[in-house]
Amino acid sequence: MMDDLVFPSQEFCQNALVSSPQKYLEMYKRSVEDPAGFWSDIASEFYWKKKWGNKVCSENFDVRKGRINIEWFKGGITNACYNCLDRNIESGNGDKIALFWEGNEPGCDGSLTYNQLLKKVCQLANYLKDVGVRKGDGVVIYLPMLMELPIAMLACARIGAVHSVVFAGFSAESVAQRIVDCKPKVILTCNAVMRGPNLINLKNIVDAALAESARNGVAIDICLTYGNDLAMKREDMKWHAGRDIWWQDVVDKCGTTCSVEWVDAEDPLFLLYTSGSTGKPKGVVHTTGGYMVYTATTFKYAFDYKPSDVYWCTADCGWITGHSYITYGPLLNGATVVVYEGAPNYPYAGRCWEIVDKFKVSLFYTAPTLVRSLMREADEHVTRYSRKSLRVLGSVGEPINPSAWRWFFIVVGDSRCPISDTWWQTETGGFLITPLPGAWAQKPGSATFPFFGVQTVIVDEKGSELEGECSGYLCARSSWPGAFRTLYGDHERYETAYFSAFPGYYFSGDGCRRDKDGYYWITGRVDDVINVSGHRIGTAEVESALVSHPQCAEAAVVGVEHEVKGQGIYAFVTLVEGVPYSEDLRKSLVKTVRTQIGAFATPERIHWAPGLPKTRSGKIMRRILRKIASRKLDDLGDISALADPGVVDQLIALAGKNL
Ligand code: ATP
Ligand code: MG
Repeated sequence: MMDDLVFPSQEFCQNALVSSPQKYLEMYKRSVEDPAGFWSDIASEFYWKKKWGNKVCSENFDVRKGRINIEWFKGGITNACYNCLDRNIESGNGDKIALFWEGNEPGCDGSLTYNQLLKKVCQLANYLKDVGVRKGDGVVIYLPMLMELPIAMLACARIGAVHSVVFAGFSAESVAQRIVDCKPKVILTCNAVMRGPNLINLKNIVDAALAESARNGVAIDICLTYGNDLAMKREDMKWHAGRDIWWQDVVDKCGTTCSVEWVDAEDPLFLLYTSGSTGKPKGVVHTTGGYMVYTATTFKYAFDYKPSDVYWCTADCGWITGHSYITYGPLLNGATVVVYEGAPNYPYAGRCWEIVDKFKVSLFYTAPTLVRSLMREADEHVTRYSRKSLRVLGSVGEPINPSAWRWFFIVVGDSRCPISDTWWQTETGGFLITPLPGAWAQKPGSATFPFFGVQTVIVDEKGSELEGECSGYLCARSSWPGAFRTLYGDHERYETAYFSAFPGYYFSGDGCRRDKDGYYWITGRVDDVINVSGHRIGTAEVESALVSHPQCAEAAVVGVEHEVKGQGIYAFVTLVEGVPYSEDLRKSLVKTVRTQIGAFATPERIHWAPGLPKTRSGKIMRRILRKIASRKLDDLGDISALADPGVVDQLIALAGKNL
């Protein structure tokens, strides 16, 4: 470690896929000067029943020139499931472990080799075909992190059906809303699941969702229900004869081979609704060929993947991270993937590291929220496990505060493992800005540089590109293979939400700063930017300053109206386990922000928070915090996407008390 630069070890670089900045620059240069050549070389490593036509990519990225349109490998005929499974088996990896499964309770586990996984996928694919699911039909999947979840995704892909995974934590209303939007033929679910110490009866939620969607004119005839006997006896479940079918009764009897439905590269692979941190969910559509090539390539380079690696991503397949970096990206590379059912700190704070040691995990990918929550506990919960197998760590979902980055690097990775802080979105399909471990020095809190083929730019309010050191709106100038192609059933919203703010560019919605060395720093969503006396302040900067205070575990800042300054900074602060609130501590937190950023960023208020409202994917929902901060309590909006709505009441109760 040198100043703010953290260099990979020489040993790591020697064995890395991209081992120096020069090597990256060489590859990056080719990828943007000759994208067709660059990407078709990579795509040729996959199996294509028929090669794509003479155009690798065709796009219109500019609303002023007409309809936004992105196509990659059009005319190429392939199948994502075949490339994940059959192709790896044919190259001799049939007996390699594809999935390790770790259950909620320690000691409860399983595994599938590539051969075994293919058989399971074929059985379910055959069942879906038997009940009339055809190419292009929708299938909603509402399953917890059992191996049946990736199995279900791959079975759909095999027969050309379009899966829409709904995170199995969403309410009946949210499930119904998504069903009504995408009108699936079948829903796949299970009776119940244990999450930590709690039993969640998923089937009851699905029953209510199906009743609700039927009232809205979308009836589903088949509810295929996996009997998760570890959580609940099957007899204890309410049954709707004719509609409900036990998975094990029918799927286990199906044949273990299933021919592949070959699809066009531009046929849809899946749709996935965004988490809803910022409003009504959008059905993001990803197609087959480009997504396949892009997720495989980003996975390989951002994690410096080697065939001997064991990879674990703590996300759920209900989010894009689980699509691209649990199911498709890793399996396309023939990797061994850990699928974990439970909560990361159940039944004890060291559970993650126990799992790392158990499966000899070498690539560990998680979210800042988890890092911060583990940081609140004593380091001893980490250090008593070996963690020797770890090679590369990863972070996604929010900006990672530099102090959380350092803790992750030093305590979890023993100062040995580079951290890939990957910036991307449901819409982008895969990483757009990410470190390549081994290629260059990292800066804690920076996602570093754009991936191959990605032309990220920072623009000002008028949409002019900024050069060098700057700060503004993060956009992309042209497409990459994994880009989303539309919003399901609403291409107009696709164009207005993403391509209209700055014509000629895809606008991510995030703010970003580029430093003097060219490193990119995501400052948070631009909707969250706070304007204090004309200074535009990203939420991430102030939060990182607060979190660097040794007694602060987590922080979220929002803007509130201020008579003089326009907006003032209002900070919600969660303290480290066992630390009491005090006036001295409040002053010391304020001082930390003043010294690290400047007096203009001084928080007006510190609001002690026993917890913060987070979406089910672990992101802080500032929209609700803004309402609490400005005391607009009767208009909190939709809070169904929150993991724990109870937190809101706690915050409101504390609002008047300790300012
Ligand atoms: P919605 O779009 O429905 O409001 P969402 O944006 O939370 O939901 P995702 O697509 O899962 O849904 O998240 C993408 C966003 O997460 C990015 O736009 C960015 O704000 C944030 N993000 C993801 N990874 C990083 C990262 N490494 N650093 C900083 N921010 C990140
Ligand atoms: Mg978003």
